[in-house]
Amino acid sequence: MLLLLAFSCQQKKGYNADLLVKNARVYTVNKQFAVAEAFVVKDGKILAVGKTDDLEKKYLVKEVVDAAGKTIFPGFIDAHAHFYEYGMGLQSINLKDINSWAEIVDSVQRYAKDNSDGWIIGNGWDQNRWAKKQFPNKQQLDILFPVRPVLLSRVDGHAAIANQAALNIAGIKPNQKIAGGEIETVKGKLTGILVDNAVNLITHKIPAATDDQTNNAFLQAQQNCFAVGLTTVDDCGLDYTLVNTIRQLQNRGDLKIRLFVMLSDNQQNLDLLFRNGAIKTPRLNVSSVKFYADGALGSRGACLLKPYTDKPKWNGFLRSPKQHFQDMATLLAAKGFQMCTHAIGDSANRMMLKIYAGVLKGKNDRRWRIEHSQIIDPADFKYFGENNIIPSVQPTHATSDMNWAVQRLGKTRIKTAYAYRQLLQQNGWLPLGTDFPVENISPFYTFYAAVERKDLKGLPEGGFQMENALTREQAIRGMTIWAAKANFQENEKGSIETGKFADFVILDEDLMRIKGNRLPKVKVLQTYINGENVYKKR
Ligand SMILES: [Zn+2]
Repeated sequence: MLLLLAFSCQQKKGYNADLLVKNARVYTVNKQFAVAEAFVVKDGKILAVGKTDDLEKKYLVKEVVDAAGKTIFPGFIDAHAHFYEYGMGLQSINLKDINSWAEIVDSVQRYAKDNSDGWIIGNGWDQNRWAKKQFPNKQQLDILFPVRPVLLSRVDGHAAIANQAALNIAGIKPNQKIAGGEIETVKGKLTGILVDNAVNLITHKIPAATDDQTNNAFLQAQQNCFAVGLTTVDDCGLDYTLVNTIRQLQNRGDLKIRLFVMLSDNQQNLDLLFRNGAIKTPRLNVSSVKFYADGALGSRGACLLKPYTDKPKWNGFLRSPKQHFQDMATLLAAKGFQMCTHAIGDSANRMMLKIYAGVLKGKNDRRWRIEHSQIIDPADFKYFGENNIIPSVQPTHATSDMNWAVQRLGKTRIKTAYAYRQLLQQNGWLPLGTDFPVENISPFYTFYAAVERKDLKGLPEGGFQMENALTREQAIRGMTIWAAKANFQENEKGSIETGKFADFVILDEDLMRIKGNRLPKVKVLQTYINGENVYKKR
């Protein structure tokens, strides 16, 4: 009798939990893509998912969030971005979306007036937006800034323009050659344009960021990411020193976003990775190395099997000799780490696919990634599926590049570029990202580009190469559970299921049901990480 009484008392009180989110349309992104109404959070994890009534009865919670019918998704994961670089970019001159070189020079001048000494650093210019679509020349920068060094990076980070003062500091001379890069010289004179590895000659001379600048970069980037619903970001290429900074900021509780860090390809990083082993904490993962096979299509650094359609006899270039990638693949396979390689051109992709295939030897679960997998020769798709090589793609690249990519590639090659559906079919899953700051950080732009394949003006009307569009469900999976899987994190995040981190977003509209043209306008109302509210729309 007593026992019965005690039992019924407990039933009334219910189980304790921290948070109940109710009256929502919760896309759980579980295997069935089931929709639920409510869920309960305890100790930063999802405790139960179900109906509002049932969960209200069963649990005694400290806090209730009534979503009032709004849509909830798992926190978005960006499988390919440059988080730190984006944060640093927020502290320099933003040249994005500027439609002429003259206006760019104007904004550089304005910045120089407000910031009276030191290097002048800017980024985001894109000659494809300008009337002439040609690379700029440093002349005006030399007249305005004869002494102060200036470096302005192209939007893709694969080319830059430097003034003479900056070129002098790096000791760059006309007609100088560099492997994996280009120093543009016209009629015996430097134009200031540097491509890929040539840019590094200058960036190595820029004084290191102060601790304050570095910390601010991480924290500002985090703030902007939370505002668009990102709860995990893959940072594709960092030095180990920055991993230490991340750990400090996370231990202090300042940096809450979850980061998946790929280390940059250099000996020091490899030594530290091998010595210290993989790092896996709830908010930080370090177990992979990022390589660059080639450059980018916009700056004609992508390595193609046949010459560029708009530059005869030019095939682009590799960033390192083939042997380097071969050696690294063998080494990382032996040590058990993940290899992630940037490959844009069909030649770079073929080379990396064959190197990976030679090491992976058929079906496996190493999840080695090809970042971008942008232009694939029709004969090479099969390597992805046969060897479980993971294409990691950024749908906004398709819609940002589509208007000029055809000039670089011609009408045939473009057909198997940005071929996301074909790539998805290879393994049955496909992680999505943005490559920000190359593209906007918004996951909604990614979603829109993946399913509608249109730019923000709604063009082209029928969508670009729609045979390679993704369904909405596929796109959501790509931004959540499949992105988690590419990071070996599918058991702890990427869906709203019992036992997983309580990372989720409340949106003002339902991504699965609104009209296509409304997708880029969707707003995040609230973002949660580990059951903690980290963003609320004002
Ligand atoms: Zn990138």
